[in-house]
Amino acid sequence: MLDCGISGSQRVDSPNDLSQVYDIVEIFHSVQGEGARAGIPHVFIRFGNCNLRCEWCDTDFLKYDKMSCMDILSEVFKFDCKNIIFTGGEPMINDLWPIQRLLKARGYHISIETNGTIAIPDGLIDWICVSPKDQIYTNVKIKQRHGDELKCVYLGQDLAMYDDLIQGFQHLYLQPCYFDDKSVEWNGKNFALTESIVKENNAWRLSLQTHKWMGID
Ligand code: SF4
Repeated sequence: MLDCGISGSQRVDSPNDLSQVYDIVEIFHSVQGEGARAGIPHVFIRFGNCNLRCEWCDTDFLKYDKMSCMDILSEVFKFDCKNIIFTGGEPMINDLWPIQRLLKARGYHISIETNGTIAIPDGLIDWICVSPKDQIYTNVKIKQRHGDELKCVYLGQDLAMYDDLIQGFQHLYLQPCYFDDKSVEWNGKNFALTESIVKENNAWRLSLQTHKWMGID
């Protein structure tokens, strides 16, 4: 039986919320490796499916299991960690309110990593990281135009394309694009290019995927 994780007087769980089903690729405990919350342990809930298909995407978001919120909470409770990240795939293609209500009732801090194509309702998420993909999709519109961090995968695009977006975010990051199937030299050049752009543009900071160096998820 699921330990509900909250005291008796606070048992407010809705049966509909507990039975809500999501497509889940994996749930794991790790350390955030990139962006403003790098170094903080989190439980990552990776949702299946995405509304985009980026050529560098390193997530197999089409292999997932159907999990109810009861199943998800059972997994989350295995870890002594109150920080959650909704990631994907694209988590915002789901109705996240049921799992959000259940987690917030238990005192969890919820972050999200989203491509920004779907607006996030007020109050749903505690920490919003938008990683826009309009550098490759000219027809993609960013609907989530404010948040805590804007993390742009850098491929040499003109930063002026973000001029009307950056004022909505507290932290601005450029992260060199890394292709698993390209050479060390190719990826190294892109790392160097991103570093030089950050040195010339003080508003932006460099984000590196340090978890990949450590060989963790
Ligand atoms: S938006 Fe993210 S999850 Fe979706 S295809 Fe692009 S990199 Fe992959």
